[in-house]
Amino acid sequence: MTALQIGVDIDGVLADLTPALRQLLGRESDDSPNSYSLSASGWVRDRVEEAELIREVGRQGLFATLPLIDGAMEGLARLREIAPVTLVTARHAEVEDQTRAWMRENGIDLPLVLQQRKIGWPILIDDSPDQVSRTWATGGFGVLFDQPWNRHVDGPRLPGWGALAVQL
Ligand SMILES: [Mg+2]
Repeated sequence: MTALQIGVDIDGVLADLTPALRQLLGRESDDSPNSYSLSASGWVRDRVEEAELIREVGRQGLFATLPLIDGAMEGLARLREIAPVTLVTARHAEVEDQTRAWMRENGIDLPLVLQQRKIGWPILIDDSPDQVSRTWATGGFGVLFDQPWNRHVDGPRLPGWGALAVQL
């Protein structure tokens, strides 16, 4: 890993998972979770149901079809001008094929790492407060990608891909 390697999360950063969750839960409105935890957001009852929901996304093959978050491709191109970029996701191994299909579909030709607890990234851009704080705790520079479910957390924040030129 080179000194300036940048890790970029997928769900909530490059790919919009929320519409698939709404669809599976039969939610009518276009609201978003207000906590990274879907159970704390009141979208599911508990962590067991949350894990089951994420497994269902995979069972239905939806990880291959998630829409890109606005400006994601331009954002990746900007980051690649700065340092090598690797996609790093906490998705499980059984959906790696769907993930790679999604990358191909969107023309994203970058290394992919599956890692539940993201450690060792000099720079990590992620929408998970836990992953970002772990990055700081292990000597990296964590950047929170702004989403409705992480607005209560302090620290360096990327307000959206369109802001990247200004931020860096
Ligand atoms: Mg994420």
